Amino acid sequence: MPRFTIIETAKHIGEKVKVSGWVDTVRAHGKVLFVDLRDRSGILQIVFIPSNKEVYEMANEVRPEWVVEIEGQIVKRPESMINPKLESGSVEMLADSLKILAKSETLPFSIEDSGYEIGEEIRMKYRYLDLRRQRLKNNLIVRHKVSKFARDFLSAEGFIEVETPYLTKSTPEGSRDFIVPSRLQQGKFYALPQSPQQYKQLLMVAGIEKYYQLARCFRDEDARGNRQYEHTQIDIEMSFVKQEDVMELYERFLIKLVENLFPDKKIQEIPFPRITYQESMEKYNSDKPDIRNDKNDPNLLAFLWVVDFPFFEKSDDGGWTFTHNPFSAPKPEFMSDLLQKNNIEKILTTQYDVVLNGVEAGGGSIRNHTPEALKKVFEIMGHKDEDIKEQFGHMLEAFSFGAPPHGGIGSGIDRLISLLIGEPDIREVIAFPKTGDGRDFMMQAPSEVSDKQLKELGISIAKKVDDKIVKKNEKKVVTKKKNEI
Ligand code: ASP
Repeated sequence: MPRFTIIETAKHIGEKVKVSGWVDTVRAHGKVLFVDLRDRSGILQIVFIPSNKEVYEMANEVRPEWVVEIEGQIVKRPESMINPKLESGSVEMLADSLKILAKSETLPFSIEDSGYEIGEEIRMKYRYLDLRRQRLKNNLIVRHKVSKFARDFLSAEGFIEVETPYLTKSTPEGSRDFIVPSRLQQGKFYALPQSPQQYKQLLMVAGIEKYYQLARCFRDEDARGNRQYEHTQIDIEMSFVKQEDVMELYERFLIKLVENLFPDKKIQEIPFPRITYQESMEKYNSDKPDIRNDKNDPNLLAFLWVVDFPFFEKSDDGGWTFTHNPFSAPKPEFMSDLLQKNNIEKILTTQYDVVLNGVEAGGGSIRNHTPEALKKVFEIMGHKDEDIKEQFGHMLEAFSFGAPPHGGIGSGIDRLISLLIGEPDIREVIAFPKTGDGRDFMMQAPSEVSDKQLKELGISIAKKVDDKIVKKNEKKVVTKKKNEI
C-alpha cells in the first residue's frame, strides 16, 4: 500500500492509502472515535468505527504523541464538515488498520500554541519537543527556503560555494575567539572563525572570483539579547569589483528574496536609500536608523544603506583601532592618507552596512589588496612589525603573489529571517540555540571533560570557581560590538 504524507491525501480520494505520524488529539463522538494524525505536512482526521472491533479497541488505547501507522480509505468530508483551517480539511480517512510504532510519555509542556510563555530552560531542555509545535516547524521551513533561495540566486549569478575551516588561527579581529586546544601540539590552540573573512579573501587570491558560503561564525561574546555564540552568515566575496557592484548585487538579492518568499511584505523604498554615517548620526543619533514611515505596519520593510564610516576610532588605551574591519580599504581618495598615516581620524572606509527596520542586516567592504596598504592599517593600530608578521604574515605574503581587487559582504541570516517573519528573537529561527547565558540544557553543554582528556591535551584546570564568581566576572567584560567583523 502506498504511503502518503498528510497533505497529499486530498489528492487520493477513494483510494486506500497508508499514513504515519503523531497522534495529535483523540476524541470520542458517541461510539465513533476520531484521531487527528499529524505529520510535518499537516493534520488528518481519522475515523474509527466500532464494527471494525479489533482496530477500534486498539485505537481507544492510543494517547497524544504516540507514533502510529494507519491504513484506510480517503473519503471526502460532507460539505458541512469541511475544516477550512486545515489543508487536508476537505477529506478524512476511514481506518482499516492501526499499528503502534512508539508510545509517548505526557509531554512536559503543551505544543498546541505558540509557546512564547513557556520558560526558556524547559523549552530548550526539550527542544526536540518544542520543535514539534507548528510555529517552530514553519520557521525551520522558511529558513530552509531562504537558504535555498540564496544558494540558487548566487549560483545563477556565477558564484560557487566553498567551505572554509572551523579550526583555524586566532587573530584579533574584534570579538573574543572560541579556542580549541590541540592534542598533537600541546600548549597550542586553534580558534573557531569569527567569520571566514581571511579565507574568503585568500580564495580571491586563488582566483575563485565569486565565492559564497552559508557560513557558521563563532563569537565568544555576551549571548544575552538577540545574540548567539554561533550564527550563520550569507558570506560573499567577489573579485574585480567596486563598492557599487557588491551593494547592487546584495540589494537585488534582498529585493528578489522578499518578492519570492515574503510577498505580503512591502519594501518602503527601492532602490534602497543611502545615507552617510555622519548624516545618520546627526539625523537619527544612530548608525542603524529605523526609517519606517509607519512603525505599526508589520509588513513594512525599510532597508537602508549606511556608508562612509570612519575607518579608525580612538581605542581605550589612546591608540587607534578599526571601526568595522581591518581588512577594508579606505575610500580611494583617502588611500594616500592611509599610506602616509596622515589625518587618520578623517580617513573614511569603503564599508557599507545594510540596515532593516533599525537592525543591522549585513555589512561588508572593498578590501585592501596590496600588502603595503594592509600593513599600514596594522601599523596605525600600533602593531609592531613582528606581531604583524606573526598574526597576518600569511595575508601579506598571499597579497604579494598578485591579489585581485576584491570586496564582499556578510549578512546574518538568523537575524534577517527573524525580521522577515516577525519573530522577536533569533532563537525562534534556530533549531538548537543556546539559552541567554550560553548554555545548552538539552545536551548539558558546556560540561566538564574527563581527566584523561585533559591530560592528553596537557591542560590542567587551575581552580574550580563556583558559578557565582563566574557570573560576577562576566559582568565586568565589556564587549566591543562595533569592531566585530
Ligand atoms: N566578515 C564580515 C562580517 O562577518 C563581513 C564582510 O566584511 O564581508 O561581518
